[in-house]
Amino acid sequence: MKRAFELLLQPQRKAVYVKIILFFIGLGITSSLTVLPKLNLVEAGEIRANQIALNSNWQAASFPVENFQAYTSAYGYRRSATGGGGWEFHRGLDMAAPMGSYIRNWWGGTVTKVGDRGACGTNITIQSGEWEHVYCHMQGQVEIIGGIRYLVDRSGGIQIAVGQQIPAGVRIGRIGMTGRTTGPHLHWGLKYSNNYIDPAVVLREMYSQQGAATASATTSPSPSWNPQPSSFASPSSQYIRNWGY
Ligand SMILES: [Zn+2]
Repeated sequence: MKRAFELLLQPQRKAVYVKIILFFIGLGITSSLTVLPKLNLVEAGEIRANQIALNSNWQAASFPVENFQAYTSAYGYRRSATGGGGWEFHRGLDMAAPMGSYIRNWWGGTVTKVGDRGACGTNITIQSGEWEHVYCHMQGQVEIIGGIRYLVDRSGGIQIAVGQQIPAGVRIGRIGMTGRTTGPHLHWGLKYSNNYIDPAVVLREMYSQQGAATASATTSPSPSWNPQPSSFASPSSQYIRNWGY
């Protein structure tokens, strides 16, 4: 009788474990995606970052994706990408491109982090002075070689170490579908002085500076810049669908 009872109990125990695991997964997702508690600080940081973006020289900056197709999700509040009626704060700009398209380093800096877990999937973070830029959903994985963490995407010819210096415009990975996503895109996150900001602000300023430079200096158009004017000129009007994180 006791044995029968234990057998009955086991599936329930399993269910409890599954619930506990789901709870922690849910906690992880909500903590990384829900509304920031100090929104006023974020907004203050954003205003400052916008001014910095407008006052910076972006002539050498690179558009972060090759074969860019469309902006699929803007920075800011949006309906939960996983369904349901909830809202979340999307801390980046989503840019769709075909699977395997190369991702380019936006601004020269040092690799501070690589990862392949969580909603961001396979990712890389690069620090450029006060700016921090993160690239999510890439192909490949993290490998530890000789005690150093690397982002490795062999078929893409990518192997980048934490601590490595990367110039602007260099290929740092390829568009994939790792992490929380339903379609191939780059989730591009941007921070200035630890405050998340809207990457579209920087892209618009880059576009106006580099577009002006290309128009006036016919001898040396920026090689790293491929603005695709019709689709790029107005980042805010190009969100065609929502592909997740
Ligand atoms: Zn995103």
